Amino acid sequence: MNDNLMNPDQGFMSYEQFVEVAEQIRGVRRLYLSHGGESLLHPRFTDMARYIGERRIARSFGIETNGILLTPGIADELFAAGITIINISLDAADAVTNASLRVGSSFDTIVKNIRYVAANAPEGCRVEIFSVLTAGNVEGIANMPALLHDLGVKHYRTMQLIIRNEEMAAHRISLPPELLSLLKKQCGEYGIEYRHYANPSRTYCYQPFKEMSVTWDGKITPCCPNKTTGMNETPYDLTNMWNGPAIRALRHDMVRRRFTEKCLENCDIAGG
Ligand code: SF4
Repeated sequence: MNDNLMNPDQGFMSYEQFVEVAEQIRGVRRLYLSHGGESLLHPRFTDMARYIGERRIARSFGIETNGILLTPGIADELFAAGITIINISLDAADAVTNASLRVGSSFDTIVKNIRYVAANAPEGCRVEIFSVLTAGNVEGIANMPALLHDLGVKHYRTMQLIIRNEEMAAHRISLPPELLSLLKKQCGEYGIEYRHYANPSRTYCYQPFKEMSVTWDGKITPCCPNKTTGMNETPYDLTNMWNGPAIRALRHDMVRRRFTEKCLENCDIAGG
């Protein structure tokens, strides 16, 4: 779901639509209740998590969140629902850098919430922090392992910024090898599992073979950046749509190393 109401293309998924989707994907291996926006803004998010957990819709399910609304009360509800993955974005190890990257965000609140979640997550629930590396935070990122150790976090991931437009291109940075080695070393010393994702191949994308996204209004897309529409079919049957003509055509192009126009327009993986 995508809950950023600042964009007219975005909104809250209705609970009825959510149930319809959930019932059609029963047995799926992994489900993320997120699609680019902040899912915890949804007024019925914890009801949705409970629905997934109680009915065992997915073998594993999780959320990606900025952590602001992940209060101890909400975290406890998610733990009770059986959530297995909590990914929290934190791009800086200090309040000043965080404020410069995320206007209106509260470093202290995020850190407090992370500390609670890391200390109270039940066995089987993986809590991972991830940082998107940009020119604005790369310098201080070496301080992150010590902070995460203090917060009790055991999993950390850094990612290269995926460029969606020219403005973002100005912030792109590659992680220098010496910094990557330092992060690995520090995380190793603290017992934190660490992974770094650099930009994937520019000649091929596995996304349409592996995942499918359902937007807040029930539209099917092959991934978060690809705004291809017209993949929906009538009747609304996700199993059929997973193998529908539109997504098969996209896979057909991918195996021939051909990105579609929408990929080229919207996604850094395709050089867009
Ligand atoms: S937009 Fe295209 S290249 Fe980018 S992740 Fe989606 S399918 Fe892959």
